[in-house]
Amino acid sequence: MGPQIAIDLGCIERNARTVVDLCNRSGIKVFGVTKGTCGMPQVARAMLRGGVAGIAESRFENIRRLRDSGISCPIMLLRSPPMARVEEVVRTVDISLQSELATIREIARVAERMGRIHDIIVMVDLGDLREGIWPNDLLPTVEKILELRGVRIAGLGTNLTCFGAIVPTEENLGQLVAHAYKIERLTGVGLDWVSGGNSSSLPLLKAGRMPAGINNLRIGEAILQGGVDAFRADPWPELETDAFRLTGELIEVKLKPSLPIGEAGFDAFGKRPLFVDEGDRLRAIANIGREDTIVEGLTPIQKGVRVLGASSDHLVLDVTDADPALAVGDSVSFRMDYGALLTAMTSEYVEKTPIQDTETIAPPKVVVIDAEPAASQLLVRYAIDARLQAMDYDVAMTGDGEAMSDTSLRLSAGEDRRVALRAVAASARNADALGLIWIDSIAALMPPNTTPDLRPDFSALTRLLGLDGRLGAAQPQLSPENVVLVGLRHADPAEARLLKSSRISVFTMAEIDASGMRDVMREALKVASSGTRGFHVSYSPSATEMHGWSKGAGGITVRETHQAMETIALNGGMISMNVSGLTRDLDEHIASEAVNFVMSAFGKRIL
Ligand SMILES: *Cc1c(COP(=O)(O)O)cnc(C)c1O
Repeated sequence: MGPQIAIDLGCIERNARTVVDLCNRSGIKVFGVTKGTCGMPQVARAMLRGGVAGIAESRFENIRRLRDSGISCPIMLLRSPPMARVEEVVRTVDISLQSELATIREIARVAERMGRIHDIIVMVDLGDLREGIWPNDLLPTVEKILELRGVRIAGLGTNLTCFGAIVPTEENLGQLVAHAYKIERLTGVGLDWVSGGNSSSLPLLKAGRMPAGINNLRIGEAILQGGVDAFRADPWPELETDAFRLTGELIEVKLKPSLPIGEAGFDAFGKRPLFVDEGDRLRAIANIGREDTIVEGLTPIQKGVRVLGASSDHLVLDVTDADPALAVGDSVSFRMDYGALLTAMTSEYVEKTPIQDTETIAPPKVVVIDAEPAASQLLVRYAIDARLQAMDYDVAMTGDGEAMSDTSLRLSAGEDRRVALRAVAASARNADALGLIWIDSIAALMPPNTTPDLRPDFSALTRLLGLDGRLGAAQPQLSPENVVLVGLRHADPAEARLLKSSRISVFTMAEIDASGMRDVMREALKVASSGTRGFHVSYSPSATEMHGWSKGAGGITVRETHQAMETIALNGGMISMNVSGLTRDLDEHIASEAVNFVMSAFGKRIL
């Protein structure tokens, strides 16, 4: 197993709430910074649940990832863009930090052309020597910005403790407030924001010494990592420090001497390491290396484990004193400092697994069935309610498309994929983060309204995910990253393009043939469950090769369909399901088989 990062979203939400509560008491609004997690939408959502006023990010790729997943809160860009990306800034970002007049001019030009006004926070350098206008040049620069029509000075900000290791104090942040007053006098209008830095400003706030007038902070580390860096010797005990945990597996455990034997030269990274002779020690190798993280930033969680060093793919540990003792195949976990987290989140080799710490409640045993008239007749014909009752479910029939409580499973059935559109949208309204397993021969990702004869259900997924530029019917709860298509056989060129550029996962027939349904479903369930409160299963009988219908067309077999549904039932995360294609004239065999698949998804087993 591994390397893998487990991300505890509950922990991030609670940390965000702790920081937001303290800040709000001083009239400070918090923007949650997600750059440490590459703009992971699940992390942003956890911060938003914790009450942050917006999300701040330094990279476009990350902002696009957030917007693609339907996050519509204010987003702040922390780093000045290259000229070529200015148009994208104006289009996707609500407010950006700026310190170069040339860039601000270009932003103004582009924004004016687009008929927009872009908000900026002007950055001033108070001694940390990273970004910012030098204080003497501030007012002259502001005067020049005021001549531009496409931008508005929405605030003044500073950044400390990043390059020069200069800590925020009453003095330097007092200067920030003083500069803000000067700008307000010059312009005659109040600034929306006086942005007093990052996590390193929290100790000052906590000590009650934050100058009045600061009304914004941009907080990443304290929310993600619990303020280990920001608070150092004097930690803030309410903040939790283990939202992120890196885990690898031991691939060798052997007793070896602690001094290398032979003539000493340079290691794999051109260094001459020094060793201390501690005699023979039990040493272990974990499958984590410098390709994955900054190993100096790792702290083993288990007592008695020590990091000795690493090469690109091997982490060498001393496990002599490990309690309990460790053996090959055991996993070892580590806390990471900010640098280690950043590199591990960026490494393609490290799997990221967000976890919702929902309390485990007894699985709901009520099924609400919501079926269109023709589908309803079919379900009645195959006695679905009696069969579900035989599996200990309580069954309720509705026809209004809405009725659903938090604790019931819902089954929707209808003629075409519009039933999926309604059912997924309804489930999204009941869950703050939803996944979707789409078992179908087509992606239903056509752009809507392009051709008059396009069947409306061919764009069901486009509409759910807002891929037509409008807010999706299931957004922001449903992210493309939590959507997985299983059994795809046909894709229009437009759909294929959209699939490549979106973050939807796809398992085509070719992949199911190659890996087998069980492995495909294991991956699919991972996609749909990662960071969500559960998932919806959308099934179209056109996915399955059955009695004459799509026979020979190369779909999944009846047995594979059952296997997929059984894996879903075992997972226990399904909160709703829909079956489409249940028309009045549907072949009897197909109808009865489709109902059997539903039974499998709800947990029907042969024995
Ligand atoms: C990264 C960054 C932050 C957040 O810093 P943390 O130490 O993670 O709180 C805030 N502002 C700017 C400009 C940044 O680049």
